Amino acid sequence: MTITLHNTLTRKKEPFVPIDPANVRMYLCGPTVYDRAHLGNARPVLVFDVLYRLLRHTYGADHVTYVRNFTDVDDKINATALAHQQAGAPGTLEDLVAERTDETIAWYHADMDALGALRPDHEPRATEYIAQMVAMIDGLIKDGYAYENEGHVLFRVRKYSEYGALSGRSVDDMIAGARVEVAPYKEDPMDFVLWKPSSDDLPGWDSPWGRGRPGWHIECSAMAYELLGDRFDIHGGGNDLQFPHHENEIAQSKCAGHGFANVWLHNEMLQVEGKKMSKSLGNFFTVRDLLEDGVPGEVIRFVMLATHYRKPMDWTEKKREESSKTLMDWLHVLKKHGYTPKMVKQLKAEGQWSGDGELLGTLSNDLNTPGALARMHVLAKARTAEGLVPLAHALELLGLVADWSLVDLTPSQDVKMADWVPAVIDRLIEERGAARAAKNWGEADRLRDLLNSAGVQVTDIGGSATWAPGPDFDPAKLEGLT
Ligand code: AMP
Ligand code: ZN
Repeated sequence: MTITLHNTLTRKKEPFVPIDPANVRMYLCGPTVYDRAHLGNARPVLVFDVLYRLLRHTYGADHVTYVRNFTDVDDKINATALAHQQAGAPGTLEDLVAERTDETIAWYHADMDALGALRPDHEPRATEYIAQMVAMIDGLIKDGYAYENEGHVLFRVRKYSEYGALSGRSVDDMIAGARVEVAPYKEDPMDFVLWKPSSDDLPGWDSPWGRGRPGWHIECSAMAYELLGDRFDIHGGGNDLQFPHHENEIAQSKCAGHGFANVWLHNEMLQVEGKKMSKSLGNFFTVRDLLEDGVPGEVIRFVMLATHYRKPMDWTEKKREESSKTLMDWLHVLKKHGYTPKMVKQLKAEGQWSGDGELLGTLSNDLNTPGALARMHVLAKARTAEGLVPLAHALELLGLVADWSLVDLTPSQDVKMADWVPAVIDRLIEERGAARAAKNWGEADRLRDLLNSAGVQVTDIGGSATWAPGPDFDPAKLEGLT
């Protein structure tokens, strides 16, 4: 199965050809850890989790390396620690920074685990790779791509002629559109910080340029090089990181002589009333808020996957309701056809656990998750193993079911449903619908009572009805109706 991906660099959908199929390598810019992740932050995590799962499915679980970093040194983190100290928290600023970053990483893990995101193979913390950053910066200075001034080290943007290629804009256009900081230690306002001085109370490391800390961009370049090598396959992140973060990563890494990433993938933004959800705008709610409101992680995940990653999306109550209902319907269909955790295990052991070709093709087409979900609707309508095994397979592949033993698929009674049962129930429900449409209430009631007497639970949603075996399910009551 060929995977195609939309490469931001070429602005085209391209067949994905890994550098080494035995080790497909992917880097995603991770969070700056000073606060709970908001729902927008979960979008890249889920998009790249689906890609990670698809790559593992295609190339083998042991043949994919996924790196997602933690930015645990940053001015916002320092500001948060300072605010805590001013509010009376005990300890030095450095202690408070360490406490806050550790705590935020634990929150992040708990929240993303709840969304069914697999942990990446490596989750480097920037502060553990300072030596590699210093070495890279040192090389850039020696080769004339960077310069030191007043304890700062800056990258000479004009030295890299391809700067702007990712966003497709010229340096001058970017300066006009961006809030570039003019500073006395910069040769050019466009130059960006690789290293800056730290005051004694802030986290800092010794370097050839004095005690200081790295800029944000160099962190990703150094960690990606250290963990994925000179050239790797995929680099991802949100659209908002294209410029300046990703342009800067490319400039540094290329000028340091590295091949860097072949394919660049960017997810669109999660929005609130047409505006990007962000901490700075204050228009956010956290993943934890939703989980605490009782929205299951699987439902949050479903809502996210229902929109293609290159389209902006909103979180709405309606989407939450519909996603929840669909997911429950699918699980019920599986349940009433006897797809118990035991049976899933058996299917896997017997080599009968296989996906649907059309669905995999759709997903491989630039991660068309809404298309894959649409295909699952079709599969769920099937009453045979041909539809239901691929449905169950897809639920697992998309991370909507992590562990079958946690899903309540065990029928309340040991229902051994004969083939004719679902067909008869479907027919009775259809006849009941027709009677209701014809305002033939007597007949509609008779059919409802018949279904009730057999313990069939019917739910009417919109114009259609679904059913599930209730606790008193007794298909024998329907015998003779075939
Ligand atoms: P940050 O911690 O702000 O650097 O963001 C971490 C990740 O979340 C980055 O990949 C951002 O692109 C992504 N991100 C931030 N806000 C949103 C949003 N509203 N929608 C989608 N992705 C976002
Ligand atoms: Zn990055």
